[in-house]
Amino acid sequence: MTAPAVGIDLGTTYSCVGVFQHGKVEIIANDQGNMSTPSFVAFTDTERLIGDAAKNQVAMNPTNTVFDAKRLIGRNFEDADVQSDMKLWPFTVVKDGKKPKIQVEYKGETKKFVAEEISSMVLTKMKETAEAYLGQEVLKAVITVPAYFNDSQRQATKDAGVIAGLQVLRLINEPSAAAIAYGLDKKVGQERNVLIFDLGGGTFDVSVLTIEDGIFEVKSTAGNTHLGGEDFDNKMVEHFILEFQRKHKKNIQPNKRAVRRLSNACERAKRTLSSSAQASIEIDSLFEGIDFYTSLTRARFEELCDALFRQIQDPITKALRDADFDKSKIHEVALVGGSTRIPKIRKILQDMFSGRELNKSINPDEAVAHGAAVLAAMFSGDKSYELQDLMLLDVIPLSLGVETVGGRMTNIIDRNTTIPARKERTYPTLSDNQQAILIKVFEGECAMTADNNILGTFELTGFPPAPIKGVHMIHVIFDLDNNGILNVSAQDLSTGKGKSITITNDKGSLSKEELERMVSEAEKYKNEDEAQKQRIGAKNALESYAYNMKSTMEDDKMKKKVSEDARKTVIDKCAEAVDWLDKNQTAEKDEFEYQHKKLEKVCQPIITKLYQAGGTPEGGMPSGMPGGGMPVGFAGTT
Ligand code: AMP
Repeated sequence: MTAPAVGIDLGTTYSCVGVFQHGKVEIIANDQGNMSTPSFVAFTDTERLIGDAAKNQVAMNPTNTVFDAKRLIGRNFEDADVQSDMKLWPFTVVKDGKKPKIQVEYKGETKKFVAEEISSMVLTKMKETAEAYLGQEVLKAVITVPAYFNDSQRQATKDAGVIAGLQVLRLINEPSAAAIAYGLDKKVGQERNVLIFDLGGGTFDVSVLTIEDGIFEVKSTAGNTHLGGEDFDNKMVEHFILEFQRKHKKNIQPNKRAVRRLSNACERAKRTLSSSAQASIEIDSLFEGIDFYTSLTRARFEELCDALFRQIQDPITKALRDADFDKSKIHEVALVGGSTRIPKIRKILQDMFSGRELNKSINPDEAVAHGAAVLAAMFSGDKSYELQDLMLLDVIPLSLGVETVGGRMTNIIDRNTTIPARKERTYPTLSDNQQAILIKVFEGECAMTADNNILGTFELTGFPPAPIKGVHMIHVIFDLDNNGILNVSAQDLSTGKGKSITITNDKGSLSKEELERMVSEAEKYKNEDEAQKQRIGAKNALESYAYNMKSTMEDDKMKKKVSEDARKTVIDKCAEAVDWLDKNQTAEKDEFEYQHKKLEKVCQPIITKLYQAGGTPEGGMPSGMPGGGMPVGFAGTT
């Protein structure tokens, strides 16, 4: 039996995984017991860490701890947002062709990863979290993306899923997934218009939907793929860097470790400010031994972020206009994403809707994964009652078109068109004796293509030269799939043949070969992680065994039951093993196991004798021993 498909909310700062089983969704806790996992990956001299373990060591290892991959994914190195984000990240981003690559030191070597690979590592963690819970290998998933993600960002996210070894059933827009979570709970009967307001760690989306009888029809979507909690944290960081400068006449900016520690403290303070009027920041020895103790009021925080907070207004207005809805026609405004807990954000939103109560009934951190889990079940053929009659009609966020005379953008598929969609156009050759035609595909809303985003250049060549223009008619098909990803094909109608088209890949997407290489490398990293886990397991097993055995023999009660000589032998050998461990922390698994066996050889006969004489210590035997809690080699903690 295969595991059910899961729904993954791949967030900028946190990710979350859910599964639909037995008629309901369960959000799955990770190995730390948390429902959401930091989207962090860290590289050290010995291992790769993902999630909480990576985030917890960020201040110690700032240059090799990667986060915010979602802010890089599908973007070019020259992108203005990439350029400004790079200034704030403690890790290094380098240019490789058009793509940005993250450069880290891993096991003593310099490694470069594209954002897709980092995101795939986060996805792997979410996959493993689900597998640990379900007890089976998870192969299929629905992954969510911001509704406002463009074609390249979607393609790159899909690639990340493939690298993680997942069959991506569908990419779903985050607000749409949240709406599903919301709608399922409500089981609405009559038609209702809902505005989903989704402000997370790094992205902002607004979607306007109509929900009726299980059909979720997205009317419009708008947003900003670079606005969220991280930006508010950064504003606070800037503020405190200046304060430190004023107080201590020192600039902490170049010290990545100090800035990261400050940023973590700011994020915590920001959360506090959602429920208190004041928050304190206390960081011991932040920079050159100077402690930094300060505080921030909610009012000051709101003032710092005022311009950012106000950026939520335009996309709302745009989404309502595109849906052709007046505010009064919106029955419900629902909140999604951790940053919607900020009181000022709620106030701005409420003011826009004339004081209307906002719907907070869905947990803002889990709603997206919840909806994704429902859709994952639906797409994998689950026939549960709860999923019957459920249908999602989503839209594309940006118009798609081609360049026409004078560099103008001619839309072929307008924004907010329901997906999937297929549009066809026929273009005549424009000059006599023309032997080739060049079609440039763009996305965006600007009148001139120069201001939009180029997706690809398609050149049709090799048709017989026709003396008169217009003889050759080129038929171009725009095929927009369920994930909102565009595929284009072209045919020369005069010859009736599909011509081979040369695609200049301006999207910066990974080639098939690159993808294959990354899939096999991901497998290699996974095996290395597993080997590391086993190595730590063997080390912990030896350590627990030695300490348990030593403390057992040091117990006063043992003095009567075991001869002085035997006790001394065990205690000495255990001390020797601990000493060896201290000096050989980086030893291989085999070496730990060898030391473990060596120690056991000495201790086992003594313990067996004691056991046979019925003299087992209270509370049972130490691990690895007859009657002990754990079998030999079992890792208590890893
Ligand atoms: P999400 O991507 O939806 O998990 O949102 C994560 C973002 O929400 C992060 O930037 C968090 O700092 C932020 N966040 C979480 N809880 C709160 C809170 N109580 N107040 C303000 N921001 C929060």
